[in-house]
Amino acid sequence: MDNRIRTKKVDDCIWLMNDNVSTGYLVCGEKKAVVIDTMLGIADVHAVVREITDLPLMVVNTHGHCDHFYGNAYFDCDCFLHPDDLKVAGLHMKLPKIAKPWKEKKLKMPAFKAIYDGDVIDLGGLSLEAISIPGHTPGGICLLLKERRVLFTGDSINRHLWMQLKESLPLKTFLENLNSISWVTEKADRILHGHARDFEDISLFDELRAGIGELIETRGKGETRYSTEYKWSRGIAKQYPFGSDGRSVICYIDKKLD
Ligand SMILES: [Zn+2]
Repeated sequence: MDNRIRTKKVDDCIWLMNDNVSTGYLVCGEKKAVVIDTMLGIADVHAVVREITDLPLMVVNTHGHCDHFYGNAYFDCDCFLHPDDLKVAGLHMKLPKIAKPWKEKKLKMPAFKAIYDGDVIDLGGLSLEAISIPGHTPGGICLLLKERRVLFTGDSINRHLWMQLKESLPLKTFLENLNSISWVTEKADRILHGHARDFEDISLFDELRAGIGELIETRGKGETRYSTEYKWSRGIAKQYPFGSDGRSVICYIDKKLD
């Protein structure tokens, strides 16, 4: 696999970083820079960030999955995670296959600091607000870059949503949580998610809400849309199509419908 991290400037203050597994972001204000997700740690993401900025840094992880926080080990600054994801992050740190190459580099993971719903990070001229969105994981957060009307969603809102995981919440609960933050569609025009290569329109938020609602109502057996088998590394789940692009799916298991 290509171990390089590719970077792309997508706004005057936002850089997208992709390591071929997942996507992290660098947001630079006048006084401080924030790294949103550090990817899988297969390359030195700190060095990549330092080629772009010498501002004081902090790291915020959107959730506790390894492909979003393993790269924290390259940083000696504060790294923030919602406490409700500490358990899943702890489990992911023990995944032997994934942790092995990371441990061979003798990297040490810094302890997480807590970030909560409503916390605002002042970058100087720019601010990021943490918004809880339990679903994909119990402690998942989005970050709203208010001044640029951009919503960073991690894996909580994307076009290939994983809700089949043990730690994922029931779909009904996730839908209620999405409904409770529907105000974000008035505050953001664009989405950058945890596996993106570019912006998505904020309409993805409502497309996903409608898709989950439909899936719950029809239990994946609608007349025009229906679920099919979804094979993944840990077994067989189901996938339900949503949106109008013909490629977006919600992955789940029947248990998540109850
Ligand atoms: Zn994830």
